[in-house]
Amino acid sequence: MKTGILKINPFSVEQDYILKAANIIKAGGLVAFPTETVYGLGADALNAVACAKIFQAKSRPLEDPLIVHIADKQDLFKVAREIHKITSDLIDAFWPGSLTIVLKKQEVIPDIVTGGLDTIAVRMPNHKIALELIKEAQTPIAAPSANLFGKPSPTTAQHVLEDLDGKIDLVIDGGSTAIGVESTIVDLTREPFCILRPGGIGIEELRRIIPQIEFYKKDGILSAGMYPRHYAPNAKVLIVEGNGKIQVEKVKDLAREFDLQGYHFGILAKFENKDRYGDFNVKLLGPGNDLVVCAANLFSVLRDFDRDKVDVIITEAVKEEGIGIAIMDRLHRAQGIKINHV
Ligand code: AMP
Ligand code: MG
Repeated sequence: MKTGILKINPFSVEQDYILKAANIIKAGGLVAFPTETVYGLGADALNAVACAKIFQAKSRPLEDPLIVHIADKQDLFKVAREIHKITSDLIDAFWPGSLTIVLKKQEVIPDIVTGGLDTIAVRMPNHKIALELIKEAQTPIAAPSANLFGKPSPTTAQHVLEDLDGKIDLVIDGGSTAIGVESTIVDLTREPFCILRPGGIGIEELRRIIPQIEFYKKDGILSAGMYPRHYAPNAKVLIVEGNGKIQVEKVKDLAREFDLQGYHFGILAKFENKDRYGDFNVKLLGPGNDLVVCAANLFSVLRDFDRDKVDVIITEAVKEEGIGIAIMDRLHRAQGIKINHV
């Protein structure tokens, strides 16, 4: 299959182009499109065969359910049931935006979308192209991240093509995504309500609506997605905890060690430490005090290291607050090995 590329300016969306993409969705095809978090790989959520193609293209296990995207809050009633006040409070506070809500599903949703579960994950993205596409397709769109299963999520159309060229009908190139990590997933079908995956919206913000909300953990591990090794670059990722001088020294020790042993490695550093690693292969995540920028760069930088063919990425940990929790979660899933700073 030849994958088409359609460049659309998110600030002045050409309706003709949207129509072209929407027709592919309506015909049961696959379209990758930008959202404010990462690029999604979309199919008609009411068409089981179309959704099956998503799993095939991504080599994704069938038991890993998809997130369904809608363009109008009212459409939630078409895909989910048992919608209580807490749901509307969350929606009013965070939609459109990077919050996915797990609810009981409606009959019309095929089992393949939800991995056979009686629940559905739904979100209304905050991105003009995504919203226009869903509206024009006149159907909810099931869309996991548009990467091969287990690889870092794509934040540009180029990343999508690296993984899925020849396997999908179309990619809409709408530039880099703003947030860069996936949505936060909140499960309202469990008592007590809980966060299944940290993401674009921080736990602190959610607590304004659900004060007691906690991350759902199994054996002390965040349960986001069912697969612990996720979002992974080809290289091994070593996470160095702490901050400031001590953290930098620990990174340097490891770098010298790898250098002596002849490894091909890179260092993922915060802006403020960029000049501290001499001639080593250093890439920058963002300023340690601006975690939003760090999140936006994360997956792209991991892919850049893959392109350099490094065996190991030594990465500085960031502060675990707000979106920093999502960044650290993704790094741990990138087969992170924790190294304490003492
Ligand atoms: P992705 O779209 O690639 O970011 O992955 C979507 C994630 O949403 C999956 O890995 C699941 O963990 C989660 N998810 C989707 N549907 C459900 C559901 N019904 N219940 C719990 N988690 C879900
Ligand atoms: Mg994904």
